Amino acid sequence: MSEPATSLPVPAGPSAARELIARSEAAHTSGEHLEGVALAEQAVAIALQADDAALIAQAHSQLAAHRWRLGQFELAVRAGRVAAARWQALGGEQECDTLCLLAISYSELGLQDEALKAATAAFDKAREHRYDTQTVRALNRIGVCFDRLGDPAQSEKFLLQSLGRARELADPNDVLGALNNLMATTISAFYHHRQRDEPEQAASALQRARQYGRQAVSLARRHGDAYRLAVTQGNLGEVLGLAGEYDESHRVLRDTVTQAQQHGYRAVELRTRHNIGEVLIQQGRFDEAIATLRDTLTELDHSDQETTRMRVHSALYRAYKAAREFEAALLHCEAYHALELHRAALQSHAQARLMVNRMDVENALLDGERARLDAELQRLRSRELEAEKLQLEARTAELQRDTLEDQLTRLGNRRRIDEELPRIFARADPAAHPLCLAIADLDHFKDVNDRFGHGVGDNVLRAVAQIFRIKTRPSDLIARMGGEEFLFALVDTPLPVAQDICERLRAAVEAHPWNEVAPGLRVTISLGLCHAAANDTHRSVIDCADARLYDAKRNGRNRVESSPA
Ligand code: GH3
Ligand code: MG
Ligand code: MG
Repeated sequence: MSEPATSLPVPAGPSAARELIARSEAAHTSGEHLEGVALAEQAVAIALQADDAALIAQAHSQLAAHRWRLGQFELAVRAGRVAAARWQALGGEQECDTLCLLAISYSELGLQDEALKAATAAFDKAREHRYDTQTVRALNRIGVCFDRLGDPAQSEKFLLQSLGRARELADPNDVLGALNNLMATTISAFYHHRQRDEPEQAASALQRARQYGRQAVSLARRHGDAYRLAVTQGNLGEVLGLAGEYDESHRVLRDTVTQAQQHGYRAVELRTRHNIGEVLIQQGRFDEAIATLRDTLTELDHSDQETTRMRVHSALYRAYKAAREFEAALLHCEAYHALELHRAALQSHAQARLMVNRMDVENALLDGERARLDAELQRLRSRELEAEKLQLEARTAELQRDTLEDQLTRLGNRRRIDEELPRIFARADPAAHPLCLAIADLDHFKDVNDRFGHGVGDNVLRAVAQIFRIKTRPSDLIARMGGEEFLFALVDTPLPVAQDICERLRAAVEAHPWNEVAPGLRVTISLGLCHAAANDTHRSVIDCADARLYDAKRNGRNRVESSPA
């Protein structure tokens, strides 16, 4: 016997999880499901720690598969839900497998709607991605769901589709699965019609059940699958009994019991013995039926085969009633209903727990989504704030510019002069940083406006401003004082250099291709220039430059006058 898996030291990391999953899969194949659960649970823990989505999905799938085989349907559903959600994000056919497993687990818990939803989701996914095997299995699951929902006709349709496709794929396992479930659902159909007093349809259903059963048995025999052979044969025996072929039925059922005993398929054995009892009741051999069923019940009392136990109680009730032993009949009737109540209670508790669990899962998903949205909102908000801040800064800069800038020429305006000149003068040091001020005025500008229009006049002002900008340094202050007069504060500039600059400005304006602005247009400027001596204020130097400008105008315009000369 192997050491319990839970006591093994737990190595960390995805490779450890992968190994545990592989071992859990092997345990599934060899039927050691308790060990498989322990391995899968360890894999889940490591995968969660490693935050590896694919491994989390695989580990939960394994866990669900083992739980299902152990008959722990509620736990299978819990693991299956996690796995399905993970696979959904990852994609791949495993999502379909997991949904099918979920479907049969839900079915066992009596949650037929959930089962049908899971099976349908598996089918849609499988068809969308052309997972052929998964399509076959999903159709099979949908068929079983309809049987459990009390609609054997619909069930048979889906199972036949599953059968057809399984045959196309030549997969004996899936063919067998379809045939077996077809047998089961046509038995349901038989009871369904018999209850409604529809003998022809009942007989037809039974006939089909027998055909499916014969095919299933021969296929199982050919493929040497002992377990499935036993199961199919047991079902076929039941069908033959219902069809009144008692000898054949007994032969098949007894053979099934022998096989089941040989292989240790306890559940199949007990189920088949119950079927023998049912056939005996049908034959009117009540004493033999009662003996067989009582033996079976004694053994069932120590097993967890609750469904079979219920069926045996029901059969014993009918057998005793037919034998007119009413007291015994009543006891089994009561036992049957007690079990049914118990099972219904267990089922509804499981259902309630699963609903709560589902809400938890949904809430967790919602919480995650909410957190993500919050983060996104936060991000957007800070981005928005950032954008708003930039906008505000730009707007402020614009306003600042507007208040200090002349709109027409984009040079500084009068306010700029008032603001900056005192500062420039405060910094000025005639010895180390000589400073000169010049004022330029357009010659006969009134005539330009008069002859060419105000628009051309504006263009001239802009063009002149551009020439000034190009011909001076960025550190110099140039501003439009008003009208067609401009002020230059030439920092770190001795008078001779300033004279040169003014001369260049004058020459550049004169040389500009004014003809291109307006044919026949000529523009010149006159400049007055002064050097700032120690103790000079900006006002006194502006007055000085203004006086020199007046000189320039008087001396014929289109010239520079400066002081000291
Ligand atoms: P001077 O050579 O003596 O300076 O003669 P002037 O015509 O240039 O002198 P005056 O001061 O008589 O005329 C200045 C003209 O400048 C008056 C006005 O029409 C024009 N002016 C002032 N501001 C603007 C403006 O923003 N756009 C235009 N197009 N013209 C302007
Ligand atoms: Mg003027
Ligand atoms: Mg002028």
